[in-house]
Amino acid sequence: MTYYCSNCWKEIYKGTDVCPYCGINQSVLEQESFIKKLIRALKHPEPSTPVRAAEILGELKAKDALPYLIELTKISKDPFIVKAALSSIKKIEDKNFVVKTEQSISKNGIINLQ
Ligand SMILES: [Zn+2]
Repeated sequence: MTYYCSNCWKEIYKGTDVCPYCGINQSVLEQESFIKKLIRALKHPEPSTPVRAAEILGELKAKDALPYLIELTKISKDPFIVKAALSSIKKIEDKNFVVKTEQSISKNGIINLQ
């Protein structure tokens, strides 16, 4: 079984406390909310993980995840991930937010994530 840092998603050894790549302490990440973990999982290098994470975020109607899902549809080259993100966005759908996001994209050319 392969282990990944839940911050930078690089491969690490099982039981590693501090990621040698980004320096994040894994036990700090353990305390994150479920939603935050799912948002992080959207960047996972194993394609089935972002698909599953997007699906769950859609089921939970996690509005916090919307900017990340929208970004994912733009940066991901995996059609399954894009499809999962799009259907999740539809489930969460907040029309005002989507319109606002599209306006900020046309203005800046990029979505600003906090
Ligand atoms: Zn890391």
